Amino acid sequence: MPGSEFRFELRVCRWAERNWPPPDPGSCQVEDGGTSDGAGGAGGSGTDSGPPVVVGRQLGTQYRRWDTVVVECDPEGLRERARFGADALDSDLLHVVRDAPAEWTWYREALPEPDYPWRYVREAVHRAADRRVLETRRDGNRIEIRRRWPYPDWVRRVVAVENKPDLDASAARSLRPQLEHDVAMGLADEAWVATESVGGVEPVLLENLPVEAGILAVDPAEGDPEVSVEWYPGSLAVGDPGTRILDRPAGGDHDRSAARFEYVDPAEKAEKRLAIAERAYGRGWRSYADSMRPDCRHFRLRPEGTALLPWCAAKARGQTAAECSGSCPEFEPEPPAWRSRGPPIQGGPGRLQRRILRRRRRRRRPGLSEE
Ligand code: SF4
Repeated sequence: MPGSEFRFELRVCRWAERNWPPPDPGSCQVEDGGTSDGAGGAGGSGTDSGPPVVVGRQLGTQYRRWDTVVVECDPEGLRERARFGADALDSDLLHVVRDAPAEWTWYREALPEPDYPWRYVREAVHRAADRRVLETRRDGNRIEIRRRWPYPDWVRRVVAVENKPDLDASAARSLRPQLEHDVAMGLADEAWVATESVGGVEPVLLENLPVEAGILAVDPAEGDPEVSVEWYPGSLAVGDPGTRILDRPAGGDHDRSAARFEYVDPAEKAEKRLAIAERAYGRGWRSYADSMRPDCRHFRLRPEGTALLPWCAAKARGQTAAECSGSCPEFEPEPPAWRSRGPPIQGGPGRLQRRILRRRRRRRRPGLSEE
């Protein structure tokens, strides 16, 4: 059914937001005395109640995009992060706010030498000041900076989830290189595959996936999904140099080429992890509405369990983000009369639906005001 993968992804995001970490290894089907990488109980954060989490979707690097990203947070750090606003800090802003001094200092003396021109740093300083996350003043030609607050250490772990509702043998085979990339790179602390299943995933499919990847079985019944763990992941080596696989031989009798790869420094990985966590913080998973058409008269937000999922009244089904665009043949703008029902500034139902999603996102970020 069109849209089912997108819908599945949103349901997994909502489940993770409410229930992370996954249940304990009690339901693990494979028993090997606890010596295997997979059954070692590395799942979750190891806490009873679970850490606060920030969930995002479709995030990653230029080499790898993950469907769902779960950022496990330090509770106090997450509250302090809210002082820097609801929007993500990009890597240039992070460079400035993380190293901003407590006392007034010329920005070139305060900040570490960048590996790009200083003029970009100066632009970032101005942007940070405009967003009120940094103080600036002039001393002659020099711009001095002072931090407003220390940037908190709010990210504990970054977990990647690949969503594959129809996990058959061929899907598992094509997923394998991506998961092997995750394992070799060690950018996320854990990598999982979530799939739709009632009564368990066939063991033969598990054999097609790297042993380090965890498997979540998601009950397809409507409402808030029941999720069980089919296989627990191993912890990936986030603190070690990562291996980025650039090219791999296709295999076969005539392919004698060697794999090409490069090493990635742990400090670079740490920066990328933080940038991904920031984007998850800023966008959350409900930002799907930004690339859809809630201003279409057929667009609805329909409750499914505790989630609000997009629904198209014209198609009488959940629509994908790709098809819900201005080029959709059934797109019809909201009638102007709908917009005049409330105060003009509130707009019509489309705006209201965006506001509802934005409010829900903010509610998951302690320390942010409602609007
Ligand atoms: S008719 Fe098209 S644009 Fe309108 S809500 Fe449905 S999918 Fe989206």
